[in-house]
Amino acid sequence: MSAQFTADDYAARMRRAADEAHAAGFDGVLVTPGPDLVWLTGYQPTAITERLTVLVLRPGRRPQLVVPKLEAPDVQAAPAASEMDLRDWSDATDPYAIAGALLPGSGRLCVSDSAWALHVLGLSKARPLVVFEAVTNALPMLRAVKDGHELDRLAAAGAAADQAYGEIIKTRFAGRAETEVAADLAALLREHGHEQVDFTVVGSGPNGANPHHEAGDRVIEAGDTVVLDFGGLLAGYGSDTTRTVHVGPDIDPEVARVHRVVREAQHTAFEAVRPGIACQDVDRAAREVIVAAGYGEYFIHRTGHGIGVTTHEPPYMVEGERQGLVPGMCFSIEPGIYLPGRFGVRLEDIVTVTESGGRRLNTTSHELQVVE
Ligand code: ZN
Ligand code: ZN
Ligand code: ZN
Repeated sequence: MSAQFTADDYAARMRRAADEAHAAGFDGVLVTPGPDLVWLTGYQPTAITERLTVLVLRPGRRPQLVVPKLEAPDVQAAPAASEMDLRDWSDATDPYAIAGALLPGSGRLCVSDSAWALHVLGLSKARPLVVFEAVTNALPMLRAVKDGHELDRLAAAGAAADQAYGEIIKTRFAGRAETEVAADLAALLREHGHEQVDFTVVGSGPNGANPHHEAGDRVIEAGDTVVLDFGGLLAGYGSDTTRTVHVGPDIDPEVARVHRVVREAQHTAFEAVRPGIACQDVDRAAREVIVAAGYGEYFIHRTGHGIGVTTHEPPYMVEGERQGLVPGMCFSIEPGIYLPGRFGVRLEDIVTVTESGGRRLNTTSHELQVVE
């Protein structure tokens, strides 16, 4: 089982967040419940509500957590409890005044992306001279470089997703609705340890050509190409894998060709991964292969995204992203080709940057798998 994160781990993350904010010209970071708060403190309230909970991180100061009185006992049980001061508030008081008193009178603060407008507006009213900026824009790389324990968890999530794939391809596809296969895939992810399933895309035939298609009532038939894209969280860390399978052995030559091109694009992008190259170079490596094969206009999305305590986060492998790769970063490489009205092919592995290159966290075959 994965090692537990300690109070020291969380203290170091909180310090790093405050220091990185300072280095980027901010006076601190405000974090409401969501992925940033989980990553920084291990605390996740049972529900996210209209009652304000906010972690205030300022450089050189002890972390402060403003929390509704009735939720304070839950915070005290969180692993980072010893590393923060609790400021609990009861319903008859104004939490924005309490939080506002912990903020500078003016300046710039980062605020977690998922903070409710209600809370940001309340804080803004309490400190009208402060300018707020989303964490994703202010500190995009805050959670991007994973430590060893985080890598272990991502690898465990990837291995579980691989096992789920190994089992779903043994089941029958022909004659079943996409939603039925998607439900089986979700059950398999849970069976292999995921506590949360974020998506199980089953895009058969023409539905595979729509990368936003999840799963519908279309009945899968022999001759279909089927895109399977699935992921969720295991021990708090994400999996996200795509494989394209074919129902029956009678494969259209263009399906085989498109699959070969996507596979080569995936491999070429993976081979490009090493410390120091820009995120956009990973995208370019994949895109050049697909463009050269004549399918450039059908590769309609970026090549990849980061993964950690969420299944989609920075860094993004996209043209224009000049951020350099750093050992410990984890992200997807998922080129695809989508021929409208016909079929789609996508191939996605999670990859981590090592000192000398890249390492895949998914290891199932990249062949065009034939299913029944
Ligand atoms: Zn995916
Ligand atoms: Zn993905
Ligand atoms: Zn391969």
